[in-house]
Amino acid sequence: MLRVLIKDTVGKIGEEVTLYGWVNAVRDHGKITFIDLRDSSGIVQAVDAKGLAKVSAESVVRIVGLIKARPEKMVNPNIETGKVEIEIKSFDVLSKSQELPFPIDGDGYDINEEVRLKYRYLDLRRKRLNRNIRLRSQFVQNIRNFLFSNNFLEVETPLLSQSTPEGSRDFLVPSRLQPGNFYALPQSPQQYKQLLMVAGMERYFQIARCMRDEDLRADRGFEHTQIDIEMSFVEREDVMNILEKMITEVMEKMGQKIKKKPFPVFTYKEAMEKFKSDKFDLRTEEEKKESVKAFAWVIDFPFFEKDKEGKWTFTHNPFSNPMPEYVSDLLQKKNIEGILTSQYDLVCNGFEVGGGSIRSHDPQILESVFEVMGYKKDEIKQKFGHMLTAFSYGTPPHGGCAFGVDRLMMILTGEQYLREVVAFPMTSGGRTAVMDAPSPVSPTQLRELGLSLRKSEK
Ligand code: ASP
Repeated sequence: MLRVLIKDTVGKIGEEVTLYGWVNAVRDHGKITFIDLRDSSGIVQAVDAKGLAKVSAESVVRIVGLIKARPEKMVNPNIETGKVEIEIKSFDVLSKSQELPFPIDGDGYDINEEVRLKYRYLDLRRKRLNRNIRLRSQFVQNIRNFLFSNNFLEVETPLLSQSTPEGSRDFLVPSRLQPGNFYALPQSPQQYKQLLMVAGMERYFQIARCMRDEDLRADRGFEHTQIDIEMSFVEREDVMNILEKMITEVMEKMGQKIKKKPFPVFTYKEAMEKFKSDKFDLRTEEEKKESVKAFAWVIDFPFFEKDKEGKWTFTHNPFSNPMPEYVSDLLQKKNIEGILTSQYDLVCNGFEVGGGSIRSHDPQILESVFEVMGYKKDEIKQKFGHMLTAFSYGTPPHGGCAFGVDRLMMILTGEQYLREVVAFPMTSGGRTAVMDAPSPVSPTQLRELGLSLRKSEK
């Protein structure tokens, strides 16, 4: 007999059905035992009057039973199937569960992080996390639907690539075929997406994994997922408009209330004067209680700032174009501190949720950016020669952005920690959930890679 989903039992009163799922709870009342059966669609009560259901909680079972309407006063308004119950005809334990290492019926916030992540597959059975992961899937689906219906192409870009200057430390992967050489995992698909514009794709997106070897925080892990977008033949306002439409449509579709439409726009200078921060929260106390989402744009950032050693570095993205009125300053390398970039950041409720820019598609401008940062001509050629060459073959003006999925999901669900919206997050110490990484590798593997390990100098 084909499986019936628990949520569909309500419409099948009087039928005999086969249900599969986990034993959510067992209540033994002597002559009669109640089993709450759970699957991905819901929970239903099953009644065993024949002593068939001898089972521990969280075991996986198959129940064949008759769906009966509950008498009026026995209806349970707390569950969607509360008007019915299943009279068990046959009962099979398909996989017995031992006692769980922690309870999964509460919200789980008070359980030790290491234990939760060691048994993440059990932690994910918890209602709150199950819901967060499902919401994440719906969110990404809505984003994809929006982008496909606006003529964007989804294109994958390499994970094994070259080190790039995104501003963070790279994760490196040793090459077996070329010992002593390394790939870098992408900090973002920035250069590839620009090359796709040179290739004539015109509208690109990717739900892209990005890796940065940075210190971990509540809202930042080694890996993150971003909605990565690039468009040809656009100006700054064109990109901001379509992104705003995407965020508004998807957020509202998911039942979110947006404070102000169109999103307010602040220059970086205004934001710093008004809020002393470029990641500000526009909500009133009342709106915070109502989980209103207050989006706003920040534009006109300085292109460059001094680093710790007093050298010029980019504030956001070296591949950005300056605002048109500063192009000649950049080419002449004067008024460096006054040059504004075409960067736009989207903030929501005190967090930066995304950002992007119009790119320089003129090799001379890109070269000047790197020169301001102290790169020598041959160094620029070696590191970015491929971009300069590509830009010499007919490059459309283009721009794009990236939105952080993890950060947006934290805002959407009201969670404080990244680990609550990611299926298999790392511990705060940088160890993987469930599996034990990083871990040592065998001497043979090291030999194949041409690597040898030095004793730590601690
Ligand atoms: N590549 C940038 C980032 O990852 C976003 C962009 O400008 O498209 O932050």
